[in-house]
Amino acid sequence: MTEHYIPDDLPAKIQHYIGGELVDSLSGKTFDVLDPVTNQVYVTAAAGQREDVDRAVEAARHAFETGPWPGMVPRERARVLNRIADAVEAQDARLAEMETFDTGLPITQALGQARRAAENFRFFADLIVAQADDLYKVPGRQVNYVNRKPVGVAGLITPWNTPFMLESWKLAPALASGCTVVLKPAEFTPLSASLWAGIFREAGLPDGVFNLVNGYGEEAGDALVRHPDVPLISFTGETTTGQVIYRNCATHLKGMSMELGGKSPAVVFADADLDAAIDSTLFGVFSLNGERCTAGSRILVERAVYDEFCQRYAARARNIVVGDPHDPKTEVGALVHPEHYEKVMRYVELGKQEGRLLAGGGRPEGLEHGNYVAPTVFADVPADARIFQEEIFGPVVAITPFDTDEQALTLANGVKYGLAAYIWTTDLARAHTFAQRVEAGMVWLNSHNVRDLRTPFGGVKASGLGHEGGYRSIDFYTDQQAVHITLGDVHTARFGAGPGDGERPST
Ligand code: NAD
Repeated sequence: MTEHYIPDDLPAKIQHYIGGELVDSLSGKTFDVLDPVTNQVYVTAAAGQREDVDRAVEAARHAFETGPWPGMVPRERARVLNRIADAVEAQDARLAEMETFDTGLPITQALGQARRAAENFRFFADLIVAQADDLYKVPGRQVNYVNRKPVGVAGLITPWNTPFMLESWKLAPALASGCTVVLKPAEFTPLSASLWAGIFREAGLPDGVFNLVNGYGEEAGDALVRHPDVPLISFTGETTTGQVIYRNCATHLKGMSMELGGKSPAVVFADADLDAAIDSTLFGVFSLNGERCTAGSRILVERAVYDEFCQRYAARARNIVVGDPHDPKTEVGALVHPEHYEKVMRYVELGKQEGRLLAGGGRPEGLEHGNYVAPTVFADVPADARIFQEEIFGPVVAITPFDTDEQALTLANGVKYGLAAYIWTTDLARAHTFAQRVEAGMVWLNSHNVRDLRTPFGGVKASGLGHEGGYRSIDFYTDQQAVHITLGDVHTARFGAGPGDGERPST
């Protein structure tokens, strides 16, 4: 094993960023952040409390009401967004190093995520400049147009898997729309988020437009959700957390976007290109350490190719390189945190009773410390097994056979989640018929998750509420006010004008 790499420019402490200043919590409270390879505390971060969130919201509200950002023409905002994208690209290697150190994601994959974060800013910069709004004419009588306005202070709450990229996924459209924001990143992984402040400042984002409060979900996150001056909450995380936030948003009837958990099926029909399906379904569940909302963590395989698929799939899974996240050869790194590692390991043990273990099943040989789990494959997993039904969020996959298309569909739809689905077949009609009947917000035919940023992103059932992606994200962060202009005379009944005088003479 290579020596564990520790970035040499780690911060001495992680602070909040409020109104253009790096600050500690008013209470002085902090929490510890662990490195997932050693599980040692490497830094402490400010633990935001209600009063810190109040300060951040006040700074964001002030910037929204008095600052230039919401009123700038789209081209000006786009220039700032493009400078942000340039800065992210220019330091992609450093960003990836930090992300890998903090999350345990393999370095090559973290680099891809850093570049995707830059792309998110570039994409929304293009979108707002090209944006057109609706205009409706009623000939001779009315012109109606949509006046799009940023909603105000957006509260952004994000998870620890690919944190920097997922933050960019919310920050870019919120800022592009002219909102000001308060970001509450995940407490397991605050390191890469601490780089935003410098990036935004250098790109010329006015102070107060971007604010960041670190801390626990139940403290800082909850205070943001309940704050009366935050009309919008965009949340990505677990379904159960989403349910709590949903309830807490109700008091102020906040706008909500919820990207939640998943247990997505990959359905492999006997007529599929099996080589491609095996490559893709391996990547689909073992990339990003399996800590991926759209992971194809249930593979449904038609009986005619089931045995061959299982045997070839397991052989490849046993070959996956697990190791230090900073080693470019590593394919699966260390899980983010010992608590999460314990959770995944409990599912691995459960799977040994619920299915037939074909690969992995515990800690990989030679990696005695750190949150390492060997890529684990269970076959013959019944549909009522917990490892079939529940999101594990680690390098663990359940394989189940089916005999007919109808049975495959029942299995695919037979869980509470509905985020993504992957369908492998060379039969065009079957592919589209299945795609249209599967309960998933996103479907890929003969591919893993490769996304065009213009398309809707989101889940159905317990996987989420609302869609982001492309103009849908802009719709979320803006109000669409309808302005009606009268051109000719308006027919108006003359209430109170008395009998026989009910119509106003036309001019
Ligand atoms: P989590 O729900 O535990 O935490 C997410 C964020 O919510 C964190 O910042 C946390 O501090 C905060 N939070 C927790 N309790 C809160 C509360 N009561 N009020 C306000 N904020 C609170 O999720 P996680 O473990 O960080 O992330 C993994 C989960 O995220 C998985 O279920 C995964 O599927 C999901 N996810 C979904 C998508 C998607 O787009 N659908 C993408 C990535 C991850």
